[in-house]
Amino acid sequence: MAACPPADPPRVVSLEEPELRLEHCIEFVVRGNPPPTLHWLHNGQPLRESKIIHVEYYQEGEISEGCLLFNKPTHYNNGNYTLIAKNPLGTANQTINGHFLKEPFPVDEVSPTPPITVTHKPEEDTFGVSIAVGLAAFACVLLVVLFIMINKYGRRSKFGMKGPVAVISGEEDSASPLHHINHGITTPSSLDAGPDTVVIGMTRIPVIENPQYFRQGHNCHKPDTYVQHIKRRDIVLKRELGEGAFGKVFLAECYNLSPTKDKMLVAVKALKDPTLAARKDFQREAELLTNLQHEHIVKFYGVCGDGDPLIMVFEYMKHGDLNKFLRAHGPDAMILVDGQPRQAKGELGLSQMLHIASQIASGMVYLASQHFVHRDLATRNCLVGANLLVKIGDFGMSRDVYSTDYYRVGGHTMLPIRWMPPESIMYRKFTTESDVWSFGVILWEIFTYGKQPWFQLSNTEVIECITQGRVLERPRVCPKEVYDVMLGCWQREPQQRLNIKEIYKILHALGKATPIYLDVLG
Ligand code: AMP
Repeated sequence: MAACPPADPPRVVSLEEPELRLEHCIEFVVRGNPPPTLHWLHNGQPLRESKIIHVEYYQEGEISEGCLLFNKPTHYNNGNYTLIAKNPLGTANQTINGHFLKEPFPVDEVSPTPPITVTHKPEEDTFGVSIAVGLAAFACVLLVVLFIMINKYGRRSKFGMKGPVAVISGEEDSASPLHHINHGITTPSSLDAGPDTVVIGMTRIPVIENPQYFRQGHNCHKPDTYVQHIKRRDIVLKRELGEGAFGKVFLAECYNLSPTKDKMLVAVKALKDPTLAARKDFQREAELLTNLQHEHIVKFYGVCGDGDPLIMVFEYMKHGDLNKFLRAHGPDAMILVDGQPRQAKGELGLSQMLHIASQIASGMVYLASQHFVHRDLATRNCLVGANLLVKIGDFGMSRDVYSTDYYRVGGHTMLPIRWMPPESIMYRKFTTESDVWSFGVILWEIFTYGKQPWFQLSNTEVIECITQGRVLERPRVCPKEVYDVMLGCWQREPQQRLNIKEIYKILHALGKATPIYLDVLG
């Protein structure tokens, strides 16, 4: 169990200049323990909340984040805004300048008969200007609302929910029971398909948003989780390991992490310039990872959440992601010897492939026992350590380097369709059974040394194939017994699919059996 967070004097972590959302917002993040009380000054004077200005924020653990909101502000609201955070251990403050509207007339251009809005007292002016500006602001708000309704956008987030969840915004998921998949097909028929259908070839497939989408993957999120905080000065970056959708991943040395070693190697994921939404996702993801602990789930050590960038600290898996590892140990792998390409030695054998597969299955048995639906199981999201130790390693979103594994739908939404069963593609239904389908695809990836599933087909052709019931072919080096497991994962009816515990038992037993018993030629 992680210890309670220590008492902490308040800090204003960030205070942003006003940004127009539905209302103008001065976004802020404050931390401290006990949680600080917040006070605002406008040009040095205490700010009173009113219909025009009010504060909305929420608090999670030590962090409070929110907005000072302005409803149709005028130039009278321009000026310096100071946020003061107080707790028994101290006081912190930060000031930014808020600039909303210009003075209606610059001082040296004031006309002899100035409009009423210039010469009136602030209260009257608010009313006066709102006649001139209110209509425009109302039109803007209306446009923004319309824009959001028409273009239901997805937030591409690295944190929080896995895979498609991470790419489809919460707003989008909960706001609408129907979701239109935009394939980028430019034929008039597809554009006419309407908001609840997608046209593939001659087929119209209903695409229904799954209202449970957000919650399903979150059942191991415990509100009382205390995430371990790691001091920034204890982390020394060494080199870049890769880049994911949410930011860079570095190899680092971390001091004071282990009671037995004074420093150890770790992998750190850095989130630069996070938005408010990304920070929330960061906190959620950290809580989620703190609660997931298993020998085949990558170990999460904690966060470094003060200042920029936000950092997550993980155990370092020295061979990187499984997809790269499979390709490097396949028949096509080449290495450079004295500048000349040579066939790499060390092609994976059958028992090693089974060992890899059964470790992932073991991690999945654990996830299923936690009622955690991963939604983006694939070899790119598993990591390989020393002695062929494999762990499920990514609970965020896709990586940019694997962007072709994802299918962009409706603007920002990206789906790993090649790993998804028909019900996830058509109805966005993600369950432990859909994770089992993805596991079948992982098996196929392992036995093809990391090939992309359906590599010969375009995304729209893949959707057509999967929804029509076609499955991937048996890889050349795959024993019949293993292909039977794949077929058991790819049953159309989710209830007919093999259960992950059964899969683990079968693979474990096959791994122990002498390869001679496995029918490689089939
Ligand atoms: P991600 O942001 O998880 O998509 O990671 C991007 C890349 O960083 C991966 O493809 C890996 O090669 C590398 N990486 C991520 N996590 C680790 C880790 N814990 N140990 C070693 N390499 C990692």
